[in-house]
Amino acid sequence: MIQTARIALSRPLRRLFDYQVPVGMRLTPGQRVRVPFGRQSLVGLVVETGVEPPAGIKLRPISQVLEDWPVLPPETRQLMQWAAAYYQHPLGECLFMSLPPALRRGRPATANNDLFWHALEEATPEALPAQAHRQKALLTWLRSQPTPCSQSTIQAAGFTPDQIRNLKKRNLIEETEPQPPLAQACEKLPSLTHAQERAFGEIPRPELGFSATLLYGITGSGKTEIYLHYLQRYLKQEQQALVLVPEINLTPQTVRRFNRYFGDRICMWHSALNDGERLKTWLRIRNGEPVIVIGTRSSVTLPFLSLGAIIVDEEHDTSFKQGEGFRYSARDLAVYRGHLNRCPVLLGSATPSIESYQNATTGKYRLVKLEERVGEARPPTLRLLDIRSRPLEGGLSPKAIQAIRERIERKEQVLVFVNRRGFAPVMMCFDCGHISECPRCDSRLTYHRKDRALRCHHCDYQTAAPETCPACASDAYSPVGQGTERTEDILQASFPETPIIRVDRDSTRNRGSIDRILQQVNSGESCILVGTQMLAKGHDFPNVSLVVVVNADGGLFSVDFRAPEQLIQTLLQVSGRAGRGRIPGTVLIQTCHSEHSLLNQLCTGNYLAMAEHILAERAALQLPPYRAMALLRAEATTMEESLAFLDGAKGQLTGSDLEIWGPLPAVIARRAERHRAQLVLISNQKGPLQRQLQTLCHHLEEQKKPSSLKWQIDVDPLET
Ligand code: ADP
Ligand code: ZN
Ligand code: ZN
Repeated sequence: MIQTARIALSRPLRRLFDYQVPVGMRLTPGQRVRVPFGRQSLVGLVVETGVEPPAGIKLRPISQVLEDWPVLPPETRQLMQWAAAYYQHPLGECLFMSLPPALRRGRPATANNDLFWHALEEATPEALPAQAHRQKALLTWLRSQPTPCSQSTIQAAGFTPDQIRNLKKRNLIEETEPQPPLAQACEKLPSLTHAQERAFGEIPRPELGFSATLLYGITGSGKTEIYLHYLQRYLKQEQQALVLVPEINLTPQTVRRFNRYFGDRICMWHSALNDGERLKTWLRIRNGEPVIVIGTRSSVTLPFLSLGAIIVDEEHDTSFKQGEGFRYSARDLAVYRGHLNRCPVLLGSATPSIESYQNATTGKYRLVKLEERVGEARPPTLRLLDIRSRPLEGGLSPKAIQAIRERIERKEQVLVFVNRRGFAPVMMCFDCGHISECPRCDSRLTYHRKDRALRCHHCDYQTAAPETCPACASDAYSPVGQGTERTEDILQASFPETPIIRVDRDSTRNRGSIDRILQQVNSGESCILVGTQMLAKGHDFPNVSLVVVVNADGGLFSVDFRAPEQLIQTLLQVSGRAGRGRIPGTVLIQTCHSEHSLLNQLCTGNYLAMAEHILAERAALQLPPYRAMALLRAEATTMEESLAFLDGAKGQLTGSDLEIWGPLPAVIARRAERHRAQLVLISNQKGPLQRQLQTLCHHLEEQKKPSSLKWQIDVDPLET
């Protein structure tokens, strides 16, 4: 009897491949094999063995077993199978996500023992000849690293093996143990405050198996301290833990705190690791070492064996949702993973996502509140600053400049926040606040700069953008958000003596640059920080006493129903950077809509009250989380092709439960010469929607379509 195995390949195809198992080859699901595929030889993962062979087809045999143990343990496999079905992504690609790149390429699952290097105490770059620039740079770099660095890390930083060898010859650096001696000395944690202790006591212990808890803790309440205590008190010596964070390189302080208390049990997982580092970390986890992984999104797919706890910090952060390809939510996978691995999941945020908050109100998650800041710090005072008819300079009003001046004169620090997320290109009158709306829908018209048109994204209405305000004829009628680019220049001109520190994607791209910025801020010296969303990410800036929000209005009138949620989350997070130390914090929010109820609620600082309000609105409109949503996105060389494809797909869908919007051009209809459109699907329940999508995907995959056309499903989309 011929044995057959079903194999997953890393291909964008929604199917598995059957192969013949050679006599004497023993296979278990999760194992890596090599199989012939056309003229190629590919790495495959065993999904099923003992499969009924298809009649009348001669299968090709598996060529080789790559190791005699399954690289994917059962829970990891189940997780990815569930994710593939839920997000409608090809199973092969999902399973391969759980492997480090080296193993995807068929390399052996063993770590090559990397050499570790550190600079000798007395070694200084001056000891080197003047022309040895690269060696000097390497030595300086090594000296600035907190721990010894592996050869592969050094090479990844742009240095060569020759440069390393030369420094070694000169006795300036030496080989060393991989684990820094410092890491083993674990400090004692500060004891929890009363409020923290009470919240802590409400979180279920790991012995109870799976549980999901939403820890709502206001900014500066010390959520990280609670995570640390939870792991220290409850995680057993032999257990693993996962701490998911939005962006590791932006919060080196948090990582350092974990390092201080858990030493070499901590390992990190993020996109800046090179292939060697990834393989090594992956193997530690797969071998069951009792590590605590601090990682970004993709770390939820790692092959953990004995998870004792999962923590998702800043659980509302949209970076947990992958924005392309396999569009999974790491937060949601984390909860499912906790269920599979029977361990508690702790979701922490000062501004929980509406989904998680709803889960907490229905009892699916437990809600634990922590509403006091640590020590003497008090929550900041939020005030709206109406900027209608006020002359703005680089987006700043005279009142805001005056407030900044007062703080700078008192040698305090100021943070100026330029909101970009949820930036809706709408035309607004800066005199009367008028915004153009669609005559046929309850929706604002979107401004398209290219052809100066106003369009509705819920119907096909369009009109030319008027030169002056249709309501009051003022010519201060322009797209919202323009002019903020000059904010930094204006600040520099107004405060020539004060350091202006820019924090955005560009200024923090290099490794260590955010560290330098934080160092400068933490030195306490008076300065002005100017930046975007990145400033809202969990930083602890004890000396910032004033936050100025340059433009709150972008998010108020977005066509995306999630914009209000994201706006208040961002504004509260960025506000949370003020007044964390002894000086009380003030937040000034510039707006042309100071009567807007959302902004007025924001000033009370009570996030849960606002979340209730948003939930009520979503319930009234029957939007997520009350109904399930998915998008079918298409892009092609012409808009006609994209729309025709989506029209065809729409024809495939049936069922009275399904509401369909579109097809419509996407908000950004053309990107890199591709014309994008989407179909929005809404259903009362996730199950039926998932089944419809599955049938649809199979159909779309089979169907003939223009070669330039690409399509994708986005389940639980964050942008519509
Ligand atoms: P959150 O993440 O909730 O905004 P953090 O965990 O960053 O707050 O804590 C804010 C500040 O308070 C940090 O500087 C932290 O070191 C300090 N802190 C938190 N809890 C305690 C405690 N129990 N004792 C002393 N300091 C604490
Ligand atoms: Zn309309
Ligand atoms: Zn007007």
